Amino acid sequence: MLLQEEREIVREYGIIMLEKNLTSGTSGNISVFNREKGLYAMTPTSMDYRKIKEEDIVIIDLDGNIVDGKRKPSIEHIMHRYYYKYRDDINAVVHTHSPYATAYSCLAKPLPAVHFLIKKCGALELPCAPFAPAGSKKLAEVTYEAMNGLKAVLMQNHGLIAGGKDMEDAMSIAESLEVVTQMYFLAKSIGEPVILTEEMLKR
Ligand SMILES: [Zn+2]
Repeated sequence: MLLQEEREIVREYGIIMLEKNLTSGTSGNISVFNREKGLYAMTPTSMDYRKIKEEDIVIIDLDGNIVDGKRKPSIEHIMHRYYYKYRDDINAVVHTHSPYATAYSCLAKPLPAVHFLIKKCGALELPCAPFAPAGSKKLAEVTYEAMNGLKAVLMQNHGLIAGGKDMEDAMSIAESLEVVTQMYFLAKSIGEPVILTEEMLKR
């Protein structure tokens, strides 16, 4: 089976994303890129993560052609492709509708450094990409631009997207940023949180 290893990773981490409460139902999507073959393995659309089998994963090339798969890929396959096509440091993408990051994205502003885990995004604050319709090329463009070489970005009124050197890395970034956003909510509910400076974040 084409991209057997990547299919298994996508299947396994779909369940992990669900179990970590980074998504609910069939929302969100993940993919893994095989740089040598120029192909990525993507979650199918509208399918329960616990029921996805390796043959349900869709294999897509960098021009958007479906190379193998009987199902339709997630509508965000265009957005994932941008990172594989234009970034050489990203080999796995995780897109979540995790509750805190998604709620915060509705404010359309960057998340400040309330905790050192913010550095997982590659900067001192997590930017927010402007709104664009789900599944559109426009959404792929605005999120890619807003990420601007970092490892993650909020997507206004939608969720979060994270890219990593592999799937473990990408999922860890998405999870850490959800935690930071939750901490911000909690701190805000009892007062005004101190925002960490560059100096404070230095090791
Ligand atoms: Zn989405």
